[in-house]
Amino acid sequence: MKFGMILIIDDKPENLFSLKTVLTLHSFPVDTAESGEEALKKVLKNSYALIILDVQMPGMDGFEVAEALSGYSKSRDVPIIFLSAASTEKKFITRGYTSGGIDYITKPIDPDILLLKVKTFYKLFEQTRQLNEMQDILRSEIEFRKKAQTEINARALELKSILESIPQLAFTTKATGELEYANSQWLNYVSSVFRFPAAYPDDNDIESSFRAAIVSGKPFEMEVRIKRLKDNVYRYHLLRVLPVWENNTILRWVGTFTDIEDQKQAVKRKDEFISIASHELKTPLTTIKAYVQLLERMSNDPTAHNYVNKALFQVNKLDKLIADLLDISKIESGKMKFDKKKFRFEPMLSGVLDMARQTYPEFVFQQNGKADAEIYGDETRLEQVLVNFISNSVKYSSSRKEVFIETSITGENKLLVSVKDFGIGIPKEHQQNLFEKFYRVEDQVKTTQGLGIGLYICAEILQRHNCDYGVQSEPSDGTTFYFSIPLN
Ligand code: ADP
Repeated sequence: MKFGMILIIDDKPENLFSLKTVLTLHSFPVDTAESGEEALKKVLKNSYALIILDVQMPGMDGFEVAEALSGYSKSRDVPIIFLSAASTEKKFITRGYTSGGIDYITKPIDPDILLLKVKTFYKLFEQTRQLNEMQDILRSEIEFRKKAQTEINARALELKSILESIPQLAFTTKATGELEYANSQWLNYVSSVFRFPAAYPDDNDIESSFRAAIVSGKPFEMEVRIKRLKDNVYRYHLLRVLPVWENNTILRWVGTFTDIEDQKQAVKRKDEFISIASHELKTPLTTIKAYVQLLERMSNDPTAHNYVNKALFQVNKLDKLIADLLDISKIESGKMKFDKKKFRFEPMLSGVLDMARQTYPEFVFQQNGKADAEIYGDETRLEQVLVNFISNSVKYSSSRKEVFIETSITGENKLLVSVKDFGIGIPKEHQQNLFEKFYRVEDQVKTTQGLGIGLYICAEILQRHNCDYGVQSEPSDGTTFYFSIPLN
């Protein structure tokens, strides 16, 4: 059955036929019934937009049918047009059918009037239908939103209970950086959950640093000392804040303050220990070195001479290690001094290569390119960098015992120096960490000796000379360490 049909009820087939023809001609979907009883059955089964009902029928008359229809919830609101013999019947009609729209047409029927009335009712029916449809859509939209809101609330609750369970100070902020939640640990450091902890006067302000970072939309980290309320003691914390994204927009930020005071103290103690130990080792070693050098000069016995030289070699190695450890302490305490002057690079490089050839006679050191440039810097420290790069090339070489030292002046008016070996190389994943303190490539820890501090010191020296520096390496092809130093 088509939706929104018009039901015509009349006992005379010829009337039914003529009414149906008029309406069908105007494209209305039509259904018919020849008696009240048949009509009631149809109404129960189908939904109609309008009923056209003859008043005078044998059996159930029109009034009785209308009254029955008003009892069904399905048909209660369907408008009825009564077809009556005289206009006086109108008052009965109104009485019999009180709810829903009603109208009447007196016989003989004027098709124009009938069409006019049908059109009016039908239009009304269409509008009501559309309105209902809209209402349904709205209702389901509201349901959907309610459900989404419930889900969001559940998620927020879950996040809060997670943040409550961790030992850190945890918080969330709106996308704008405004605090919206802080866990109970927060209150050990701040008296209000609507404020950030106050930073130690020498440290950067927390809120303004965070707000500056928000603009970038990227995760943010800073180390900061904050004051514990119970004893007014400042403790180092690591603040980390991450954005929470949804559909390409930042919904909120989630952050934690992790107490790193104990680690900081441990690192400080270790640094102090290295500093004291290297100073303590340095003094006796200097004396030993002096005596061994004296011995070397005094002894004429070739065997003794040989032994003394071996001892001296080891003493020098020890001396270098202690010097490196002392350098580390100087870097940590910001006391590494640079004695910068103008000097010519070429003679310094030649000196380093001469030394290298003497120390490692089995190696070939080949210099390519010119290094005839004047540099402003600390010659001894830059020499230390070269010595370090070269001794690493030797240390991590394999069967091919060659080292290339290449120099050139770049377009940016810098002197580029590189030291290339054909040794074991460095896997990609280790390359960015090599210049960190104590960093050594795992596999090499077992096979070669070292403390992992040489490159860290080189990095510090190069940074203090505004140099670019880095490494290029393919495992098994060899490694190139390079730096470029500004000429002006
Ligand atoms: P050390 O050599 O004392 O361990 P460095 O700081 O000089 O410390 O070097 C750090 C690490 O970098 C070394 O342990 C080694 O794993 C790697 N490395 C340095 N130079 C080379 C090189 N030329 N070839 C391969 N690996 C190297």
